[in-house]
Amino acid sequence: MRVEYKQKCVRCKKNFVIVTRNTPYPTCHECQKGQMEKEITDPEMKKFFDIPEKFYTENQFLRNIKISYARYGQLTEKQRSAFEKTVIKMKEAKE
Ligand SMILES: [Zn+2]
Repeated sequence: MRVEYKQKCVRCKKNFVIVTRNTPYPTCHECQKGQMEKEITDPEMKKFFDIPEKFYTENQFLRNIKISYARYGQLTEKQRSAFEKTVIKMKEAKE
């Protein structure tokens, strides 16, 4: 089972972020939003990142992947599959 807990955002020190043990720098959605707002031109990647906005708000891992893509223009296979797995898990949890 994944252990999740709340920690204060390291950047604004105001908002709480839901993190897992593997999150070294918890940063809230508000602080990361700007970095995520780069337009994606690749139709395949556009579809890949087309998940409910709420998922990005709730999950820093998904935000980090999107930011990583915005910065480097590509993702590794590992990042892609981890992203997809997380989305599936979140969808299941909502049902
Ligand atoms: Zn913040």
